[in-house]
Amino acid sequence: MARAAVDGAREVLADSLGCLFGEVLFTSSGTESANLAILGLALANESPSRNRILMGAAEHHAVLHCCPLLERLGYSVGLIPVDSVARSDPDALRGHIGVDVLLVCLMHANNELGTINPVADLATVTREAGAYFFCDAVQTFPYCPSVGELGADLVSVSAHKLYGPTGVGALYVRAGTPLAPVVLGGGQERELRAGTENVAGIVGFAEAVKWCRDHPQVQTQKRSARDAFAATLTAQGFLPSVPVFEQSSNVLPSHFHCRFPGIDAETTLIRLDREGISASSGAACSSGSLEPSHVLMACGYSKQEAQEGLRFTFGANSTPEEALEAALKVIQVKDEILQIRSTS
Ligand code: PLP
Repeated sequence: MARAAVDGAREVLADSLGCLFGEVLFTSSGTESANLAILGLALANESPSRNRILMGAAEHHAVLHCCPLLERLGYSVGLIPVDSVARSDPDALRGHIGVDVLLVCLMHANNELGTINPVADLATVTREAGAYFFCDAVQTFPYCPSVGELGADLVSVSAHKLYGPTGVGALYVRAGTPLAPVVLGGGQERELRAGTENVAGIVGFAEAVKWCRDHPQVQTQKRSARDAFAATLTAQGFLPSVPVFEQSSNVLPSHFHCRFPGIDAETTLIRLDREGISASSGAACSSGSLEPSHVLMACGYSKQEAQEGLRFTFGANSTPEEALEAALKVIQVKDEILQIRSTS
């Protein structure tokens, strides 16, 4: 029964990714999927002249933190710069790539700013150089184009981003892509990821994918809430990190990123938390971190500006009314901080 349940879930994922049943591997997270894609390909590489790996400067830490290990394996790692909204340009990639590159890692949507990369064009440049292309689609799955349209050899996804359970992810591996396991043991997942499968998590992942498929209006709802929030804050002097006219296209409908010049995100976040508003200053998973966001630094912000960055995200249950209420609280918190400053 467990095997049938996992197979059924794999079919749902394969259908949603637009790939073959056997091209989907289940893992414990988006992080593990990225690690397996990058380190697994590096370990399986049999071409010594392909000893360079490129990654976007604004990738998630699940990708960037593979660098020290890649270097110990003998690879040199190059960072592809991003523009002021964390997008990578195919021409910039063309300037960095060569026949010594094994793998290019570029995310579909940036988890902090929500901006979407021109992945198909980036994949084309990668393919022209004969390298493999890994795309972190954790922020966009299951709304992203099929893996064929993305042009990727490897794609990582995670269940908790779409209201599935935490602790389960998947990796698309295009048939024929060389990959070595990084978790060793039994022969699960076509001998590419050992360990007894998290059956309940995997089944929950597939249920979440089906739920998203059956509720496409959720994306419009998120956008309405986000737009109401963004309009209110920008009218009050908050600077949007992605120009407002761009928010309607090539940006996730759920994200709004901004800063208020002169006010540290940390001060605002502590007060917002007391008001019942959960936001973050960088990646949601490092919301406790005091380091300025590496994404904003890669976009060209100063350390001070990067420490001011606030990331708000909206979900399936967010309404424009609730978003407006939240925006008014954010403005109230900003006014209180400015008031305290002016009297101290
Ligand atoms: N990649 C991106 C773009 C993400 O946003 C996240 C999670 O926030 C991850 C990878 C890591 O996924 P997981 O939390 O499933 O390990």
